Amino acid sequence: MLSSQAWSWRWLRPDTCSAVSTLCRTAVYIGRFAPSPTGPLHAGSLVAALAGWLDARAHAGRWLVRIEDVDIPRCAPGVGQHILVQLQSLGLRFDDTPIYQSRRASSYQMALDALIACGHVYPCGCSRKDIAQALQAQGLGHERHAEWIYPGTCRTGLQGRPARAWRFDCNGDLEADPTVHWQDRRLGSQIQNVADAVGDFVLKRADGLYAYQLAVVVDDGAQGITHVVRGEDLADNTARQILLQRALHLPTPTYLHTPLVRAADGEKLSKQHGAPALDCTTPLATLNIAARFLGLPTQQGTAPDALAFWVNAWRGLYNPA
Ligand SMILES: [Zn+2]
Repeated sequence: MLSSQAWSWRWLRPDTCSAVSTLCRTAVYIGRFAPSPTGPLHAGSLVAALAGWLDARAHAGRWLVRIEDVDIPRCAPGVGQHILVQLQSLGLRFDDTPIYQSRRASSYQMALDALIACGHVYPCGCSRKDIAQALQAQGLGHERHAEWIYPGTCRTGLQGRPARAWRFDCNGDLEADPTVHWQDRRLGSQIQNVADAVGDFVLKRADGLYAYQLAVVVDDGAQGITHVVRGEDLADNTARQILLQRALHLPTPTYLHTPLVRAADGEKLSKQHGAPALDCTTPLATLNIAARFLGLPTQQGTAPDALAFWVNAWRGLYNPA
């Protein structure tokens, strides 16, 4: 394990927002909304944003925004800024300068270096084809979300091949085993054995980009996030993120995964799945749709009045923590 001295909070401090980590450790509640700027906000992502905003306000906490553009090739230029404008036009005010993951590579590398130094990660020289062949040789063909569960080929060394990626060793020398138990405020008790369900997952990709899991954990730590509110499609990442938090000596936030908005065919509503853009010129009507989905009553009048009403109503929902 990392010693507390080896791992310092100041290494993680957001580049654009130096006061955050000091504030974070004294506040009771710090939440965040962390959209990927692959497209503007839509009805599905607004539900997660509204839930997070209401939860922060109901706790008299702070609500931060982080643009998760770590996967740079998937993100369109200007979309992050557009999302910020959408949030503001709907009255979902955020409490600090948003941070952009694309500007935080040095923090991710520092965390990766710390994990390398402590033997929690190892280099992997496998291509997709290598992984498929290794799984086939073991009589395994299980695909998970179209991704192979890594068979652990390079855990004992690269066998002379060049390193392509860095992977987290789920069976490494962690004090905790790879079975993670956690409590979700809506979904209840959750359990995942990360080694069996996911395998040794990538922290730095073959293309040199940092993986989503590493960026989220480093940023949640840096921003002092105490409460994560996000869509249920991300619940499956939680166990991996908790393992990383433990390896980096970072606190584990509480989690609330909000229900997914589905398209007519039952698929998760997404930018890729043709979700229409939000109409931010009629904030109350747009907010009412998201609020109803969260089990909150429709409001008349003004958007600020509706938001204030929902903050009070929210206090009785989703196992307040
Ligand atoms: Zn490998």
